Amino acid sequence: MATDHTHDPGARSWLASANAPGTDFPIQNLPFGVFRPAAGAAARGGVAIGDAIVDLAALSAAGVLGGVAAQGAAACAQPVLNDFMAMGPPAWRGLRHALFALLRADAGGAGADALRASLVPQADAELLLPTRIGDYTDFYTSIHHARNVGRVIRPDNPLTPNFQWLPIAYHGRASSVVVSGGGFHRPMGQARPPGSPAPLYGPCARLDYELEMGFYVGPGNAQGRRIPLADAEQHIFGMCLLNDWSARDHQFWEMDPLGPFLGKNFCTTVSPWVVTMDALAPFRVPFERPADEPQPLPYLDEPGNRARGGVDVRLEVRLETAEHRQRGLPPDRLSATSLRHQYWTPAQMLAQHTVGGCNLQSGDLLGTGTISGPTEEEAGAIVELSRGGTRQVALPATGETRTFLQDHDTVILRGWCEKAGAARIGFGESRGTVWPAADA
Ligand code: MN
Repeated sequence: MATDHTHDPGARSWLASANAPGTDFPIQNLPFGVFRPAAGAAARGGVAIGDAIVDLAALSAAGVLGGVAAQGAAACAQPVLNDFMAMGPPAWRGLRHALFALLRADAGGAGADALRASLVPQADAELLLPTRIGDYTDFYTSIHHARNVGRVIRPDNPLTPNFQWLPIAYHGRASSVVVSGGGFHRPMGQARPPGSPAPLYGPCARLDYELEMGFYVGPGNAQGRRIPLADAEQHIFGMCLLNDWSARDHQFWEMDPLGPFLGKNFCTTVSPWVVTMDALAPFRVPFERPADEPQPLPYLDEPGNRARGGVDVRLEVRLETAEHRQRGLPPDRLSATSLRHQYWTPAQMLAQHTVGGCNLQSGDLLGTGTISGPTEEEAGAIVELSRGGTRQVALPATGETRTFLQDHDTVILRGWCEKAGAARIGFGESRGTVWPAADA
């Protein structure tokens, strides 16, 4: 988790777009994804740099890499990154260092020539899911979100008694995780409106987004062998943006007592680029728990996690309605916050997931749960901003308002890291659109 020469904020690339101010993908970032360079072409792994993608299948075939970097690039030539994630931190870091060396401003020779020949414009590429996701689990680790939503469901007792003792989660649905850029039909289902004696079947009337981050599992563990907290980060490849779309009316009717089901299984959108934990090293922050609140049990506590278990990722949610598009207006920002406010760290979530013996597999996806900060303006879901639908959320650009999402609304999540003494790096975006309910 230490920083090295690949985090040097003064480093520049010979690729001009990688040095552009405000780019999400400078040479210090090097996030991994999967793409097709052209329609009909085979999917393969790549690394985003500036406005281009390093085609790792092409670079691997050029034979200019050696050692663990060559092995890593060969794994990335496949249509999913599961095998590369299984290789663990030495391969991840080895390939990062090799790419950095070939991309830096003073690189030359056959290696840099091969890298230049492997570049594909991002504008020409079709971005795909980075892994074959075997399992997806979504946590619930913002105490601010838990209190805000808890007030809607249980006004007298918003926080459940377990929340401050363990990172709670539900097992989600991997089959409906999609990559940024598409959409989904407004889900049908059951809800019981207030005062109604019986539930009604129909299209969701309280459709919401959830601002989250996801992280992908690296080597993973055998069934029955837990991953100790101190080792947990060796099993986290990197992070992405994640939108856990939620049908609140369906969810709140169905989830007592077994948790979310159809209210959350119709679509989950992730950003295509996975920013590695290596790239995030300059932005780690202490895990801090107020002294008057329960401290983690020993198996969820460890000096490294206390010193730097958190990550300061700046996040924002924007909404683009049909009217924004018609009038050519920029999307309105609904909220902004940081991942650093979560009550549990990614390492604690991963350790908790395995403590009973559950096996995590390479390429599995874990979500942080909605990321809501301490103030009202930092809420990561519209059910919080609209206080359960009782208050209109203003969209200043068009003059529209929302309590929940309407058809043709596009929700855009963005994330980035920046601080003095480090290069700014970004996650790109996660974008998804609500389509009208479909006829069966
Ligand atoms: Mn969620």
